[in-house]
Amino acid sequence: MNSTPCQQTLLEHYVKKILAAPVYELAVRTPLQVAPALSAALGNQVLLKREDLQPTFSFKIRGAYNKLVQLSDEQKARGVITASAGNHAQGVALAALELGIAATIVMPCKTPELKVLGVRSRAAEVVLHGQSFPFALAHALQLAEETGRTFVSPFDDPDVIAGQGTVAMEILRQHQGPLDAIFVPVGGGGLIAGIAAYVKYLRPEVRIIGVESEHSACLAAALSAGTRVVLPSVGTFADGVAVAQIGAYGFEVCRFCVDEVITVSNDELCAAIKNIYDDTRSITEPSGALAVAGIKKYVAQTRAAGQTLIAIDSGANINFDSLRHVAERAALNGAPA
Ligand SMILES: *Cc1c(COP(=O)(O)O)cnc(C)c1O
Repeated sequence: MNSTPCQQTLLEHYVKKILAAPVYELAVRTPLQVAPALSAALGNQVLLKREDLQPTFSFKIRGAYNKLVQLSDEQKARGVITASAGNHAQGVALAALELGIAATIVMPCKTPELKVLGVRSRAAEVVLHGQSFPFALAHALQLAEETGRTFVSPFDDPDVIAGQGTVAMEILRQHQGPLDAIFVPVGGGGLIAGIAAYVKYLRPEVRIIGVESEHSACLAAALSAGTRVVLPSVGTFADGVAVAQIGAYGFEVCRFCVDEVITVSNDELCAAIKNIYDDTRSITEPSGALAVAGIKKYVAQTRAAGQTLIAIDSGANINFDSLRHVAERAALNGAPA
């Protein structure tokens, strides 16, 4: 990566914020584990960063807490509002509860019930609005204006990005040997921006590869257009990444720090959920399996061998009832490794 001095300054700014983020008041340091069966099948060492093991079962708690803890006393007293497809909502709800801040969360009408309950059980107020994330977002922004509450973006905010970037800080401490690439699921780009900023500043030779659902590939679209574009429609099977436009702050980093973007189908996600289950006995949600699906595609396309590849296993919030569909699709596709 040949970055300009200006780009180095941007990365340094994020690295400092990441190192200072007090996320461990609420988040945990998750394991980085070898996936033995996947590694053997793919002929590469595959490691899983187990963000499905966070409180609220996704990494979103990191960014949410880092944002809320840094609000002024006056902002804390007025409360926060956010829009989320689910996992950010649970992160904000838990962080707000911990910090004694009132929280209102706007979620799309089709949000899995499990995620709605996850928010309500943490004392936040839930407003169900709109068919998909963009509609919920517009409503939340309007409510924020009307009520004076602080809007907390799920991804388009430097404090949120820095919170998510603590995942990379842990990875580089946990794995000090050779490392070829980190595969990161992409929705609005907060997670990949935080990870890419930290890794490219310290170990620029490590490839950062974004993985998107082919039904919400807003980073791939923005990189090929050279500017942030709004996708005309978005599929919601991988509801955690169902975003129509990459965030502005995230794109500022991604446009020079992301080496490649891979897109995968829903069936490839179902097969990857099974691969993760086989190696960990844990079930991920579709978005949580994106990175593993991306590694499989990358190895098939590049014939990479003997490399060390890390996948962010980003979340586990799936309705139990959906497992039937996932298992069926994985079986139909033979769930090859
Ligand atoms: C939010 C989320 C993502 C994507 O993160 P962004 O910062 O929006 O790119 C990936 N996986 C899961 C499980 C998520 O909840």
